[in-house]
This record gives sequence, structure tokens and C-alpha cells, in this order.
Amino acid sequence: MDFCWKREMEGKLAHDHRGMTSPRRICVVTGPVIVGAGPSGLATAACLKERGITSVLLERSNCIASLWQLKTYDRLHLHLPKQFCELPIIPFPGDFPTYPTKQQFIEYLEDYARRFDIKPEFNQTVESAAFDENLGMWRVTSVGEEGTTEYVCRWLVAATGENAEPVVPRFEGMDKFAAAGVVKHTCHYKTGGDFAGKRVLVVGCGNSGMEVCLDLCNFGAQPSLVVRDAVHVLPREMLGTSTFGLSMFLLKWLPIRLVDRFLLVVSRFILGDTTLLGLNRPRLGPLELKNISGKTPVLDVGTLAKIKTGDIKVCSGIRRLKRHEVEFDNGKTERFDAIILATGYKSNVPSWLKENKMFSKKDGFPIQEFPEGWRGECGLYAVGFTKRGISGASMDAKRIAEDIHKCWKQDEQLQCKLGKRMKRKFSESDCGGN
Ligand SMILES: Cc1cc2nc3c(=O)[nH]c(=O)nc-3n(C[C@H](O)[C@H](O)[C@H](O)COP(=O)(O)OP(=O)(O)OC[C@H]3O[C@@H](n4cnc5c(N)ncnc54)[C@H](O)[C@@H]3O)c2cc1C
Repeated sequence: MDFCWKREMEGKLAHDHRGMTSPRRICVVTGPVIVGAGPSGLATAACLKERGITSVLLERSNCIASLWQLKTYDRLHLHLPKQFCELPIIPFPGDFPTYPTKQQFIEYLEDYARRFDIKPEFNQTVESAAFDENLGMWRVTSVGEEGTTEYVCRWLVAATGENAEPVVPRFEGMDKFAAAGVVKHTCHYKTGGDFAGKRVLVVGCGNSGMEVCLDLCNFGAQPSLVVRDAVHVLPREMLGTSTFGLSMFLLKWLPIRLVDRFLLVVSRFILGDTTLLGLNRPRLGPLELKNISGKTPVLDVGTLAKIKTGDIKVCSGIRRLKRHEVEFDNGKTERFDAIILATGYKSNVPSWLKENKMFSKKDGFPIQEFPEGWRGECGLYAVGFTKRGISGASMDAKRIAEDIHKCWKQDEQLQCKLGKRMKRKFSESDCGGN
């Protein structure tokens, strides 16, 4: 497509910025700007590319899928079978195991980006994005090594993820404990090898907390697990197939409550009564709870067996921390060398996106529930905020590409006319693009 008008608009915007603390670079983008080069951003860029639309992909870190490459532990495998974690268009290689390792998943994503020739602009942190009513375009400001750039675009895709920032709870006395021992979030935890022989308290009993405990055990540490809330633990596999796959299959035929009942009966048969281990089950079933609150059931990969043998201790909530010591809600005090916070992550959308219709300021998720949350107004989109992992992100990416493609085709004629008019005056500027 001929988008020669870009240079003129860049010139006009630069002129508007004169005398202000202006961005160093202004870049008018013909296609969408995607913020975040994780699986969601890559999937969207690929689906757009398939339809002949190039996008600009902005990523704050120095690599794609930074959550997976920089913030996850060594022993991590996909929690769900690979067929539920594929990005659109390209499946996982046939020789990958059912649960690919994190390294294999990263290889898959890197290959994916290569095949679609997706080249994100790395080290670009988007600090603000707002719709300019006068221009009818989004103005996206990012900060990188070479200063500030303002991208001006018709479509903006938020792909910064549900896990953009770690959630770090504050406990009384945390500084005292940290001065004497180690306190780190799971995003900085790599291997139990760093804690051999140490007494480690893991806070949070989601999939990460449970798996970190197992990892610590395997490396000769003595982990304890803080379990404050009720939690559903299910075996990762049941009846010779993945629990997740079986659930998805049953949901096609049966109501959710019946499927939940089935899952709980089989889990009880395989794992026993988890309540006896200090892991109380929530009142709602695992799938219903996931639907309502987004809380994912834990898929056990061997942690429960270690709890049963006493290699992992289950503790109540934390009341306060002291030097080397933790006082629990039940009044007991124990010595620890380290605390690992498996307390999850949160969205950072409210910190950079200046709008108040599509995303909730409270939790940074789309206000509209799945499957409606992917499209906002004025060319704003969200990918990867469905609380349905990579399969949810893939669904979003396909819808977004289809929707933008429709507008793109409608605009094509108009822009061609505009382009012809402008062609005589300007040569096309280049802001990169995938
Ligand atoms: C330990 C762990 C295991 C998981 N296992 C599975 C699994 O097995 N299956 C599954 O489906 N899901 C799993 N998930 C969920 C998983 O996070 C997502 O499915 C997937 O990574 C989401 O991709 P995303 O692109 O939406 O977000 P992310 O992977 O978080 O990518 C978002 C990107 O946006 C970038 N970014 C953020 N803010 C900005 C900004 N202001 N400017 C520029 N760039 C920015 C980040 O640096 C990041 O690279 C797991 C999550 C964790 C933490």
C-alpha cells in the first residue's frame, strides 16, 4: 500500500512539538502498533502478516517472550499439553513432548518469529498511549536507549500480558528478614540448587509455588509451603489422558458442574483427601471457579507426594517476619533462611494506557468478559487477557487480525487516493515494521 502521507504527518507533528519537551523521534505507522512481544504479541503480528499487514511490535526487554526467557525457573514445562498452547498457523514440532520444556517453548516462539519475519523493536518501554481525537489516531510514547519515540497509529494492540509485573506482598518485619536472609519473587527464582541444605518458605500455592517446592526438595532444600486460601489440586493426568484435555472434551457434552463433580471424584480417588494435608478445597468446583474468578487449579506434578511424606511442610498464613524467623497466624514461630514469593503477577495496562472504557483501572483487564474483551473503541484491541492462557491469546490474535484487515481493506481505496496526491510531494518514511 502507498502510505506516502506518513512523512507529511511526521513533519506536522514535529512542528506541533516545537518548544515543548518533544520526543526525539516521531514515527507514523501505517499498520497497527503492538505493545509487548510475548506469545500474544507474536501471534497477532503473525496473523496480521498473513493478511499482508505489517505492524510495529514494541518490547521493553531485549528479547521475545521475556517472561519465559528471563523470569521463569529452569525446570518449568508447559503446564498444559502442547496442543492447547499453540500459536495460530504453526503447530509445535511433532517430536516435542506432550509438555514441552520451557527451552523448547522458547525455541518454538523464536522459530515462529523467524518464519513470519517478525522483528520487534527491543528495549522500548511504552510509557503512555492515548487516542488523539483531533488526529483520529493513537499516540504511543516509548522510551528506549536512544531516547523517546512517539508512534502515531490507527490501531493499537495491548499485548503486555496478565503477568507484566510481579505481585509482592508486604509483611511486617520483611526488611528485617531480608537483611539477614533471602526474599525473592519466583520471577527471580531459577533453581533449587541455589538453596541446597537451606530452610525455605514458599508463599503461595498456585502451580508455581507447588512446583518450586518440589524443585527445592529435589535439590536437598527443606521447603515449607504457606497455604492461606483454599485450593483445587488435580492430578495432571487422569484416565490415561491430560486432565485439561479431558475437561475440555467433557465440557462439550456435559454442564460445568457435572464435569467438576467428575474431576473431584477422580482426583479424590488418585490423590486422596487433600484436606488432610492442609489443602482445603474451595466451595466452587475447579472449572466453575476458574470461569468466575480466573483462579487456575493446580495440576500436580509430584508435589503432593512430597507433602504426604513430610518432605514439604504445609503452614498457615504469615503474621509477621523477624530476623531469620517467621511467625505464623497460628502463633507458631519457625526459622528460615529464605522466602520465595510465589504470589503471582498483575497486568500493567493502567500504568501506560490512557483510556477508561475498555480496561479496568483496578486490575488492568478488559472490563468486558471473555469472549468480548478483545476489541475496544477507536482501533484499540487487547490480546492475551482472557485468563485462558495461550489458547485464549491465539483466539484473540485471529479475531484482531481479521477485524483490522476489514478496516484495512476499506481504507485501502481512500489511502490510495491520498497516497497518489501526496506522492508527488514526499518520499515514504521508514519506521520499521514486521
Ligand atoms: C510460570 C508460568 C507458567 C505458565 N504456563 C503456561 C502454560 O503451560 N500454558 C499456557 O497457556 N499459559 C501458561 N502461562 C501463562 C502465560 O503467561 C501466558 O500464557 C503467556 O506467556 C502469555 O503471553 P503474553 O504475550 O500475553 O504475555 P507475556 O508472555 O507476559 O508477554 C508480554 C510482553 O510484554 C512486554 N511488556 C510489558 N509491559 C510493556 C511495556 N510497557 N512496554 C513494552 N513491552 C512491555 C513484556 O516484557 C513481555 O515480553 C504460564 C505463566 C507462568 C508465569
